[in-house]
Amino acid sequence: QLKRKNLRQLISTHLPGSVKEILAEFGAVADQLGMQAYLVGGFVRDLLLRQQNLDVDIVVEGDGIAFAEAFAKTTTCRVRTHEKFGTAVIVFPDGFKIDIASARLEYYDKPAALPQVEHASIRHDLYRRDFTINTLTISLNPDHFGQMLDFFGGQRDLKDKAIRVLHNLSFIEDPTRLFRAVRFEQRLGFKIGKQTERLMRSAVQLRSVKQISGLRILHELKQILDESRVVAALGRLDQFDLLTFIDAKLHFDQSTASLFVAAERASSWFDLLYTGEAYRRWLLYLFCLFDNLSNKGAAKVSRWLGMSPADHTLVLEQLPKAKMLLKRLRHRSSKLPHPQNSEIYFWFDGLAIEIILYLMACSDQENLRRWLSLYTTELRKEKIILNGDDLITLGFKPGRSFQEIFIALLKARLNQEIQTRDDEIGFVKANFQV
Ligand code: ATP
Repeated sequence: QLKRKNLRQLISTHLPGSVKEILAEFGAVADQLGMQAYLVGGFVRDLLLRQQNLDVDIVVEGDGIAFAEAFAKTTTCRVRTHEKFGTAVIVFPDGFKIDIASARLEYYDKPAALPQVEHASIRHDLYRRDFTINTLTISLNPDHFGQMLDFFGGQRDLKDKAIRVLHNLSFIEDPTRLFRAVRFEQRLGFKIGKQTERLMRSAVQLRSVKQISGLRILHELKQILDESRVVAALGRLDQFDLLTFIDAKLHFDQSTASLFVAAERASSWFDLLYTGEAYRRWLLYLFCLFDNLSNKGAAKVSRWLGMSPADHTLVLEQLPKAKMLLKRLRHRSSKLPHPQNSEIYFWFDGLAIEIILYLMACSDQENLRRWLSLYTTELRKEKIILNGDDLITLGFKPGRSFQEIFIALLKARLNQEIQTRDDEIGFVKANFQV
């Protein structure tokens, strides 16, 4: 039974003016074209939960591309289209994007099997979605602007804080939903419904995840690793036995959980340095997740997940290097003298920031943490002043010795033996012959 409710008031009080204007314009354009336009998905869910979400997804009953192009005539924006799927993205000058999709029965496999019902196209579009809470829609056409349509009990489940699928074959149809169920459960602080949980367990037993590509799993995994309740979410994936599909040896046990907590601490520490440097939290956590895999095992999983070449190289080269370093530095006797800054610098030089943070998370010794911190906050930013031209002016001939001189200069600078340009010139003259 279709439930309706008007959300005009909520839209009016809760959304920024610019978004409200765009939504009203969508409705007007839809009317002119004789189409119906709807807000759908996470945007509607989060609006009802009073949570900020500006990922606007629109579905129109009709041709979404024609709709996007007509809208573009009313304001300054670009339109990117995907003819094959009947979808378009509207891109505003400030980079704000809105996705437009077409709910047209001809886009679906068996249109003939559908009975004639009110809103058949949008209902059918929503029936393909993952969970009831993601099926709520809001009409945008001026006559019934703000009217919410609830075909599948999404409102009830939002109230019950329940993640429920729409039908029994949902996880078989698309096993990535197994991961999505856990993500939404943890993100929203909801609970996966009993029947949905049963369906998840049986999809796992049927080994349905085996049918999806590593790349699709990576896509879901990334999003989970970017969630703030990442530890709870990974624990849940483990309970459902979902990690074993990534690798039989992958488990989220007590020690991995502690490593995740330490990674959380490392990433908050880095955030507080305000370096403005972007890093990928999900990658840091992925390294932690790989902790009980061998180097070879981690490389195999990374390949299967279809990680980008650059990230794959991190797993293949930097992660093993970091692990060796950890072993070596952990065993560095406390009786040895305090390392020189230059020594610390070259331990960590060239490592990606996610690897440095992984090392920080793994550091169970105060010394190690101090060295990593010194490297991150100060040493890695050190730069020498002299360049090749300066060396030529000093009478040196270009060649391999330049590199040697630069390294010697950097070491001296790191160890605070030299500071100014004149110090550097004096250092070169004293230590190298023309
Ligand atoms: P987020 O806030 O993380 O972006 P979202 O709800 O917007 O969450 P997306 O992953 O961006 O989720 O997907 C957008 C919408 O598309 C969802 O609301 C969901 O209904 C639908 N969707 C995405 N993936 C699937 C899937 N595998 N099966 C069914 N529906 C899906």
